[in-house]
Amino acid sequence: MGLFKKQAGKKPAVPENIGFLKKEKVLNCPKDQTPMIKLTSRGITVDKCRKCGGIWLDKGEMRKIIEGFDAHQKELAKQEEQELKNNKKK
Ligand SMILES: [Zn+2]
Repeated sequence: MGLFKKQAGKKPAVPENIGFLKKEKVLNCPKDQTPMIKLTSRGITVDKCRKCGGIWLDKGEMRKIIEGFDAHQKELAKQEEQELKNNKKK
């Protein structure tokens, strides 16, 4: 199989190891090529585009967010329930 033959002295335009990019590296928005800003919340780092507002996640971060969101929703629901109880007492 010669499909993946190396091209000597020529780097691919798109890095093949894009999934292994270090988190510190600034990424450009895939839509408009604007350099994105890093935002970190609850241990989750996301890249946000200042132009289109798009948020891009690294591998595994979506899961963390979903899990975090779920926990957060439960917490909020509890708080809301408590608030309703408190309001009823008054
Ligand atoms: Zn963008």
